[in-house]
Amino acid sequence: MATIASNKPYRVGRSPTGLGLFATKPIKKGTKIIRYFGPLLDSKKKKDDAIENKYLFELNNRWTIDGSVRKNVARYINHACKPNAESDVKPRKRKVIIRAIKNIEPGDEINYDYGTDYFKAYLKPIGCKCAACEKKRKKKRAEARAEKLRLKAKAERKALKEAEKQKAKAARARKAREKVKEKAKLKLNGAQLNGKSLNGHAGKSARKMVAAKPGILAKPQQASESRAQA
Ligand SMILES: [Zn+2]
Repeated sequence: MATIASNKPYRVGRSPTGLGLFATKPIKKGTKIIRYFGPLLDSKKKKDDAIENKYLFELNNRWTIDGSVRKNVARYINHACKPNAESDVKPRKRKVIIRAIKNIEPGDEINYDYGTDYFKAYLKPIGCKCAACEKKRKKKRAEARAEKLRLKAKAERKALKEAEKQKAKAARARKAREKVKEKAKLKLNGAQLNGKSLNGHAGKSARKMVAAKPGILAKPQQASESRAQA
């Protein structure tokens, strides 16, 4: 038993999705790995047609292999969207051979593509967990994270720009207020000056008097001289 087992280039082992079949020896591209076998079910027989399990391998419209039997070690082979093996179906012989389509190294999990029908019925609803799909999912998550960061950075840039805009606006408003203040001050000063003159004729007359004084005090001749010079 042990010698038979050691002759085989595979073993059943833990896979990310449960159990799987793993290469224990190098398997060359194109070589037969294992046969997928079990009782043949005839769709024309009601009893056969009523059988339902995950290991049914449809050969054609009439014949299906029921691979759920314990001896069918090939049933451990998991599906992969980018597999290293294929199911070579020979409907006339009612035989299925799992064959390597790539060079497989010891330790590699052996996979084949279960086909569209199986994928739609069993894998799509729960999400395919094959290496290729996991990689795709990982990439998508990384892209989503990058996009989130990009949007965050964009929002931050926008907020910064908006803050700068508000700051500039506030500065402009402050300047405008200062200008108004300055104008008001000038007006006030003017008003104060005017106010002095409005405070009765005292200011005006006082200035007039000051201006008039030299004339009064000056000798009449001097005044006429300066007028003549002008
Ligand atoms: Zn997949």
